This record gives sequence, structure tokens and C-alpha cells, in this order.
Amino acid sequence: MMTGDGLLVRLRPARPGFSLGELMAISDAAALCGNGILEITARGNLQIRGLTAETVPLLSQKIADAGIEIAQGLAIETPPLAGLDPAEIADAVSVAERLRQAVAAHQPPLQLAPKLSVVIDGGGQLHLGAVTADIRLRAVRTNGKLLWLLALAGTETTARRIAVLEEVAVVPAAMDILASLAAIGRDARARDITGVVTTHWAVPADVGDVAPRIAAPNSAGIHDLDGDCFILGVGLPFGQIRTENLRSLLEALEILGATEIRLAPGHALMVLGIAPDRVGAAQALALGHGLCAFPRDPRNHIAACAGVGACASARIDTRAVAQMVVDRAPALLDGSLTIHVSGCAKGCAKPSASALTITAAPIGYGLVVNGPASAAPTAYIEENNIRTALEHLDKLVSKRKQGGESARSCLTRLGADMITAAVQQG
Ligand code: SF4
Repeated sequence: MMTGDGLLVRLRPARPGFSLGELMAISDAAALCGNGILEITARGNLQIRGLTAETVPLLSQKIADAGIEIAQGLAIETPPLAGLDPAEIADAVSVAERLRQAVAAHQPPLQLAPKLSVVIDGGGQLHLGAVTADIRLRAVRTNGKLLWLLALAGTETTARRIAVLEEVAVVPAAMDILASLAAIGRDARARDITGVVTTHWAVPADVGDVAPRIAAPNSAGIHDLDGDCFILGVGLPFGQIRTENLRSLLEALEILGATEIRLAPGHALMVLGIAPDRVGAAQALALGHGLCAFPRDPRNHIAACAGVGACASARIDTRAVAQMVVDRAPALLDGSLTIHVSGCAKGCAKPSASALTITAAPIGYGLVVNGPASAAPTAYIEENNIRTALEHLDKLVSKRKQGGESARSCLTRLGADMITAAVQQG
């Protein structure tokens, strides 16, 4: 797709992860064909920026030459540690593969919306609950039996629960819904389906009996899988990394024994294969390369889009503002909320509402309280006042927080009027 800094290509590996050599080859190809910036999106897709109509075929050739298999067609996503997480109760990768085969075999071919997505979650810890999907399938255990919860159009908390299915019905049910979408039209999304006939599937339990999930841990940090296997998650600050920095990191991780890299939600890479006695060194190495290697890194709690210089629609330097939030308003970044910095009202980095969104406005910045980037700002901040406005917000939360209260609860208790008054102080 076209952006402000040229064409952008989005890739997903056909297998759960990349070898280090494959990711180095992608990084080198991005440096040669693009502008030297790689991104990992909030849902864990890889993006290469700054391409041109002339360089896209070369990029494609370089990826093919490296033998890298890229997923085609419908996005069917599984959690980053699928197949490795001991907390999983079902094999999401094999269900995803069966669904891919069913979609590929369907005649006539299903004409589906390009952004349609399916999440298949085996019930592990590092789940995709916060990622929006058209079709969600989550393994659950009910009375000792493995079942699957089917939900449509949203995240784990916002999607509409449709049915609880036996495993044998999972792929046929997903195919029924995909066929219904294809019948509606090329742009149809799961939110367009008003009723789903569930009577022809065996429905062994009520959707209301399935307990909600607790939020997944942050991808950044060391994940202890079974006391003997550790996986290092590293987040890209504000979703981006320079290709030379990525290559240097991958070379060093390879020396430490890393064998595979998986893409993860929260703009992260999961590093597999490092021996337990070396995983701490790998974490320090990632930190030294400027990445978010710890779950408490404040940069994990800011969602920023590409911004000026990378997107034609952007009117603010989102990454500079995000760094300003880290430097001037650390009290807001205790992990209880995500601050969204958006270059325009589209809100690509976080389409859903945020407790605080800083967006572009005609006079500088708009601050939206409890809303998405498209909402009318609660307060306006002149361009030269953004630093002091952030300092005032920081002071407001630091001073008014009651014992043990999180930044989010404090902001909720104080309300939009008090937040507005704080940022508009002279
Ligand atoms: S939110 Fe606006 S400025 Fe940011 S990437 Fe999306 S379209 Fe571009």
C-alpha cells in the first residue's frame, strides 16, 4: 500500500516463525529496496517501508531467493508461542493448518475482504485476546472436555460470542461463516453478519459458561515455559527498528544460540532457542540495542503510528511525541493504560479507545480522554506547549494518586475536566 514514504509491504511467515538467517535476509532486502526501516505492527505483522514500484519486485525476488515462505490469502493467526506454551490446551497450529487447507480447497474460491482475519487460540498464556479479529476460536476446557468458543468481530472482550463447539465442528463452522461473508460481498466483514444459524453444529455448552480470560502478559521480557525453556521477548520501541540495528542484534543473538524468531503482538519479536544460562545475557544485549527487553519498559505502554516522514496523512512527529511522553510524563506509564499518539484521526496504531490519545490538531495537538483518535479532542495544546502540558499531566497524576492507585484509576477518578485544566495551564 502507498504511504507518505513510498510503498509499504506487510509480510507474515507461512510457518510460525523465521530462522535468524531468514530474518537477516529480509532485513538486508529491506535495506536494499526500502528506506532501511522495519516495523512490527501491534498485531505482530512485519512491515517494510519506503519501497517503490521499481524495488518491490526486487524485494520479492530477494525473499524468494532466501527460500522464505510467506503466508498468502486469508490471515489466520495463532499466538506467538503456539505449540510451545505448556499452558495451551489445544494445538492451534494444526487447527489453523486445517482451516487454511479448507479455504484453499473451497470451490469456487472464496472472495473475502483483504483485511479479514481469523484468530485461533489454543488457550496458552501469551494469547491474542487484545487483537481484533473477524472470527475468533479459542480452546476452552469444560468439565474436563476440550471445546472451542466461537466469537465474531472484535477482541476477546468485545467480540460477539456465537457458540461453543466440539473440535470436529471448528473448521466447518469457520468455513460456514467465511462462505456467508463471501456471499455478502468482497468487502464483507464479520460485523456485517447479523445472525448465525448454529443449530446444525453440535453445541455442547452455553457461551455464557465460558469464563473471560485475564489479559496476556506483555510480550517483552523473559517467558519461563517450563522451568527449563526460556523465551526472550523484545519489543521494538514505538514499533520500528533500523535494518542495520536488527541485523547486528540478530548476529549477536545467533552467537548466543538463538534459532528462531517469532513475531508477536505489541510490536515484539520472540527469540527462541537460547539456553537458560544465556537468556539474561541476550536480554541485556537487546536492551543495549535500544529495544524494550523488560515488561516494565515504559515504551511498552505507548502506541504510536508511523507519523511525519513516514505517512503522507501525518501532521505530527509521533515518535518524538512518544519519547516526550516517556521523558516528561513517566507517572502515566505504570502499565495500567496505553497512551496513543496518532498522526491523524485515522488512529492506525490503536483503532480502539484509549484512556489518553494525543492526536494532530490544526493548532498543534488534541488530547482525547477515553476515546479513539477520531473523537473530538477534550483539550487542545499549542505546538510549543506540548512539553509543559505533559509535565502538568505527570504532576497531576503523581500528586493526586491515592495509595496503591494506578494511573488509569487516578485519571478516571479525576475526570476529563480536571485533565483538561491541567494540560491547559500556562
Ligand atoms: S494514523 Fe494517520 S498519520 Fe498515523 S499512520 Fe495512520 S494514516 Fe498515517
